[in-house]
Amino acid sequence: MMEMLYPKKYVGSVFELDTEFLKREKINTVIFDIDNTLVPYWIKKPTKELERYFLSLKESGVTVAVLSNSKEERSRVFCEGLDIPYEYRAGKPGTGGLKKLLKRLGASPERSLLAGDQIFTDVWCANKGGLYSVLVKQVSKKDELITAPKRPFEKIVLYFYFRKTGNDGKQDKGQQ
Ligand SMILES: [Mg+2]
Repeated sequence: MMEMLYPKKYVGSVFELDTEFLKREKINTVIFDIDNTLVPYWIKKPTKELERYFLSLKESGVTVAVLSNSKEERSRVFCEGLDIPYEYRAGKPGTGGLKKLLKRLGASPERSLLAGDQIFTDVWCANKGGLYSVLVKQVSKKDELITAPKRPFEKIVLYFYFRKTGNDGKQDKGQQ
């Protein structure tokens, strides 16, 4: 049961998921959570670094998309100008929104990756959907009120995950 909560990979930031890594893992579709995965929840727009990163993925033929549990405006404003498809109020860890998005993208779960900062939301959703699950270290220590109570439980899962894999998200140890 605990295994369903383990990410396939744990990274310090999304930038570790570069084109070389994606090629090696045969991933052609990358789906991101927004809040605390790409930017803190109060930042409405992607940084210049993120814009360059998305562009590099797209230029290498990778499909980029966003899957967020937040309301429509959050995803729309964030993705504006990026030309990135998004699914909002996704209901993660439920897989309804994810499946809808994959269908829209014409993507297969086996070759898709879902990256997010929450174990009980993003990682669990990715694993249930049969995607490559990536846990991203939260970009800000500040969480929304709805997220904060879940963090102590995540720490417990991470303790066992770390004991099993030795991966603490501080450096790329390759495929786990
Ligand atoms: Mg998040």
